[in-house]
Amino acid sequence: MRPLSELVRPNIWSLQPYSSARNEYNGKAASVFLDANENPYNHPYNRYPDPLQAELKAVLSQKKGVPAENIFLGNGSDEAIDLVYRCFTRPGVDNVVAIEPTYGMYKVCADVNDVAYRPVMLDDCYQLSAERLLSACDGNTKVIWLCSPNNPTGNHLLGEEIVKTLEAFDGIVVVDEAYADFSKRPSFRLVLGHFPNLIVLNTFSKAWGCAGIRLGMAYASKEIIEVFNKVKYPYNVNVLTQRHAIEALNNMEDIDRWVNLLLLERGVVMRAVQQLPCCRQVYPTDSNFFLARFDDAQGLYDYLVGQGIIVRNRSRVALCDNCLRITIGTKEENTALISALRTYCP
Ligand SMILES: *Cc1c(COP(=O)(O)O)cnc(C)c1O
Repeated sequence: MRPLSELVRPNIWSLQPYSSARNEYNGKAASVFLDANENPYNHPYNRYPDPLQAELKAVLSQKKGVPAENIFLGNGSDEAIDLVYRCFTRPGVDNVVAIEPTYGMYKVCADVNDVAYRPVMLDDCYQLSAERLLSACDGNTKVIWLCSPNNPTGNHLLGEEIVKTLEAFDGIVVVDEAYADFSKRPSFRLVLGHFPNLIVLNTFSKAWGCAGIRLGMAYASKEIIEVFNKVKYPYNVNVLTQRHAIEALNNMEDIDRWVNLLLLERGVVMRAVQQLPCCRQVYPTDSNFFLARFDDAQGLYDYLVGQGIIVRNRSRVALCDNCLRITIGTKEENTALISALRTYCP
């Protein structure tokens, strides 16, 4: 890995971060807070949230086995994705490499930040090749984007190829594990210590059932987390979100129960879709959704919309022609979907 001082944008490396009232005050017990121009009334919403979310990180650290200093929390993992660009890539100069197809935000954030985005096609089994990714890199490639399990294909990426990429690339490798809670494979956050260039993303939005509170995490070296903390908005995770996340972490049985239920239901829906005469292929998945190829995805999509059932039409995405991405819902929702599919495609 190149030294962090060479990977980070020069203006960010030398940035003097904003020092908020709550940053400057640290530690000693206090009961009179006259430092932040807050209104003393309307507790607890009158107070700014903890900018570094210490209490929440302590609980998360314990549940996920990652030291708090290796955790960044943001307004969804989308905030971390944008921060990767703002911290590491020089607009109009640097570029990033990513698997294709994958999650759309990597490209959108590249465009917003005026950074060239170099997609590298997966193979027919939606797998990556470290060699092909690396051959798309040059001296100005700062980041490689991987997503495992991948969206929209649903499958996990080969661990050996991810490791090869981490070992051979001298810049940052992001492994987005938004769906890892649905997979039995070990998370890359557990090998952070081996790879100083690794950033692992996870989110409260999927298995955790908390898309509405907007909370995502990045796990990385202490040095990378410090760069993120310097650049993020001072109060990026609000009081309500911090509170609810702590509650959710203290009720992990709920999450396990939801995941088990969704995995069972996933089997039911996938088998039903596989049996439809208009279905050409159902792709293997490690997520709470799956990709399926149909004779006429657009026609089927339109029919489902007419029935009030919305799935994701991915038929215009690379390697996904005539594919729909179907999320697993409740038993009732899945039954409604299957019955509509059988009517359209008897
Ligand atoms: C849904 C999803 C996210 C989640 O983003 P949030 O901003 O945390 O809601 C991140 N990455 C991938 C690949 C996703 O599919």
